[in-house]
Amino acid sequence: MSTTPATYDILIRDATLVDAQGERRGDLAIADGKIAALGPQIDGSARQTVEAANYFVLPGYIDAHVHLNEPGRENWEGFITGSAALAAGGCTCFVDMPLNSTPVLDAASFAAKAAMLEKHSRLDGALWGGLVPGNLDSMRELADCGVVGFKAFMSNSGMDDFPRCDLVTLREGMARAVDLKLPVAVHAEDDEMTSRLAREAHASGASGIRAYLNSRPIVAETRAIAQAIALAQTTGCALHVVHVSSAQGLQLIAEAAKVGVDVTAETCSHYLLLDEDDVFRLGAVAKCAPPLRSGPDKEFLWQALQDGLVNTIGSDHSPSPPELKTSANFFEVWGGIAGAQHNYPLFFEEALRRECTPSFIARLTALNVAQRFCIANKGDLRVGWDADLVLIDPDSPHEIKTADLLTRHPLSAYVGRSTRVRVALTIAGGQIVYNNNQPTPHRSARILRPQPQI
Ligand code: ZN
Repeated sequence: MSTTPATYDILIRDATLVDAQGERRGDLAIADGKIAALGPQIDGSARQTVEAANYFVLPGYIDAHVHLNEPGRENWEGFITGSAALAAGGCTCFVDMPLNSTPVLDAASFAAKAAMLEKHSRLDGALWGGLVPGNLDSMRELADCGVVGFKAFMSNSGMDDFPRCDLVTLREGMARAVDLKLPVAVHAEDDEMTSRLAREAHASGASGIRAYLNSRPIVAETRAIAQAIALAQTTGCALHVVHVSSAQGLQLIAEAAKVGVDVTAETCSHYLLLDEDDVFRLGAVAKCAPPLRSGPDKEFLWQALQDGLVNTIGSDHSPSPPELKTSANFFEVWGGIAGAQHNYPLFFEEALRRECTPSFIARLTALNVAQRFCIANKGDLRVGWDADLVLIDPDSPHEIKTADLLTRHPLSAYVGRSTRVRVALTIAGGQIVYNNNQPTPHRSARILRPQPQI
């Protein structure tokens, strides 16, 4: 009797395979959208072989913090362009925020966004539901629809249709989220401080970059984080603090986690790659909230990350049309950094330079994210799991150019930056979704729903 070697769809040969445990040389085979085999040398043939001796192969980046704006503000981004940029940036699935699009505050708005995602996105995606004053009674239907959690703003969101969540509403929302077994995510900046400082700047005629940065100090972040932690502790809610910009904020979260509060921290690549000097250099494309911090604060943030105080990395990709980035009054400029396409490879490069291991990076960018939001079968290199992979060439010097950008509007804080790290190939569900600027076939994506471990 003879055995026929297995036939795979894709065979990746002789790569540095990186998973949550470590790294090793070997092959990875893909069949039917799944990782079919892993090993030092896999027998068999495939329809496509990728010689990957110079590449790291990691679980694809799971970006749990993007604003792709569809439906409602497709002229800002959209799933077609947004998911293409994410794929080019090594991302294989994402979780879209409930605002800057038509807000996802009930079952109907969830259904509308889910339909557009499945129609237009090339990557699988899950959705956050919103938590705002007035939609507490819709939380259950959102949970039934399949949101990964509820996002609340503790300060003004900048969107009239997504109002700030006062502390009473936040406490009640957290209590309900406990019943629904879902986390609450907060944008943590203290509204009283940030609003008053902005008003005072306005009254004194200050409208420039320095005045804006001063209006959103680190203490506004830590004060809000402390409040959110207190509410999570009293309600028992799982809390995820998004885009923590300071080491002080991360320390508060780590201390709370140590005493048993179910709280995790996301930081964003831009707080690790850019600082306030870049805001002065680049202007509006580098405006975000919380704002970029000083150079020393950025170093403290890296130290905290390397000490294990960060759970997940998000892009907070938050694009807008160019005309919202032109006001001379920096307070009026749209606040959002559109980093979908380059935040992950640039973070990878800088983290390696600072002697983080590739495996540590894989946990922050994939497995931790999948585990926190119960995204099943994604986030690591395991046989039977989804073949969601990124192949990284760590030694491909180039400069990021405007012409490379796949986002709807060619605005990025990273244009002009020199880097050695390039995403060579991104594979989602066993299909190539990005191939070094070559066209790739259409891929139908699906909406992902959390699958809690029982
Ligand atoms: Zn955001």
